[in-house]
Amino acid sequence: MGRLTAKNSTTRDNIMAKIKFLGAAGTVSGSKYLVDAGGIRFLVDYGMFQGPKKLRLLNWEESQNHPSADHVLLTHAHIDHIGMLPVLVRGGFKGPIWSTQVTAELCRISLLDAAHLQEEDARFANKMGFSRHKPALPLFTKADAEQVFPLLRAVDYDQYQEIADGVQMRLLDAGHILGSAIVEISLKDGGNPLRIVFSGDLGRYDALILRDPEPVNQADFLLVESTYGNRIHPHEEPLSELSDVINETAKRGGMLLIPSFAVGRTQTLLYLIRDLKARKMIPDLPVFVDSPMAQHVTELFCRHIEDFDEEAKAVFKKTGKCPVLCPNLQFVSTREESQAINNMRFPAIILSASGMATGGRILHHLKYRLPDPKNTILFVGYQSVGTRGQLIKDGAREIKIHGEMIPVRARIRSLEAFSGHADCSEIMRWLGTFKKPPKMTFIVHGEVESSTALANQIHQSLGWKTHIPGYLESFNLT
Ligand SMILES: [Zn+2]
Repeated sequence: MGRLTAKNSTTRDNIMAKIKFLGAAGTVSGSKYLVDAGGIRFLVDYGMFQGPKKLRLLNWEESQNHPSADHVLLTHAHIDHIGMLPVLVRGGFKGPIWSTQVTAELCRISLLDAAHLQEEDARFANKMGFSRHKPALPLFTKADAEQVFPLLRAVDYDQYQEIADGVQMRLLDAGHILGSAIVEISLKDGGNPLRIVFSGDLGRYDALILRDPEPVNQADFLLVESTYGNRIHPHEEPLSELSDVINETAKRGGMLLIPSFAVGRTQTLLYLIRDLKARKMIPDLPVFVDSPMAQHVTELFCRHIEDFDEEAKAVFKKTGKCPVLCPNLQFVSTREESQAINNMRFPAIILSASGMATGGRILHHLKYRLPDPKNTILFVGYQSVGTRGQLIKDGAREIKIHGEMIPVRARIRSLEAFSGHADCSEIMRWLGTFKKPPKMTFIVHGEVESSTALANQIHQSLGWKTHIPGYLESFNLT
């Protein structure tokens, strides 16, 4: 992947910069912001709306009507930040898409997976005849996703990169997922320097594998996420809590089944399991990762140990082994191998996607393991309302899988310690690294209650001016 500098010869003197909020305004998905700085227009993130149907329909509206832009800058590779790139490129976007190396690599994996899901959903809707559209179409296909890849341009963290005449960008580690970045853009607005900072999704301090969110000195305009702007994460000890769950299940001779997101969460769990085995806190149980996407992402992690935090790097130095690989680990590739796990009786750990049990291979494992009280199902991530994950976690006695009602007799546990998002106090800690107040702080990427709570906190503690933008609102950056 090239590390290139693009030049744009158009002059932007005396033209006022503007920002338009095309998503993640009053909600947590669909992150995309358009900055129009006269001769140059760039998008920061181009994500998919997820969740309620009302939001998902916006993806279809946008597929008919998307903005023109010269560049895209990416904060990180979650689908709610990159998921509409294939639609943008299909619509004619030809400019560079800038990100860290890891984000560029994750984009390929995640967009191909998203395209596959889109194609499957369309096929299923056509088979069942429940689509409004006849025939039902995917939002984008694998072929559309592949058109994105040649446009990806990787840049290193902490380097100033000139992306057009008088426009510089810099990526700072956001600590949210591997490769995630805070995007800083510096440009000259009518001769005056102007710096705009996009927090992207901010990670947690002292998280496993990932570095802390990097401090930012100053911004004229700041966009800060507020997913957990009204929450403080409970203090948990993931190592001891996970070892308790594993040991209890092993003692009963059961299977521990963990529905887990392929990007990030699976690798954190493997890192912890490796640590628990090294400390002899758990027996050396077989560990199956039954998700081809999780395998690809784990391999990617092992290729980019340079982006790990010091603690994880020290494990690598000491052992010479990638810290997200544990002993007795097996990646399951084919469907047949996946089904063969059903015949295994010894205690073992299975990690499989999807993380909310909405689809994927986790379903046949759940179908097989839920009826037996010896087994444990462990939830390690947020479960959206209405998903099987949420229903099981909330105590459903039976659950429908592939049209069959399956009794829930296995033990159900959950660990909340793995949130990838900073809570209110951590966002405030990061904001505390600014040397002077921005002219305006836009509170984005949050439901209205959490954005409002964060805005109030910022007023009280820092005295900064804030604004919670609405969908499609524009703002002059002066
Ligand atoms: Zn994210």
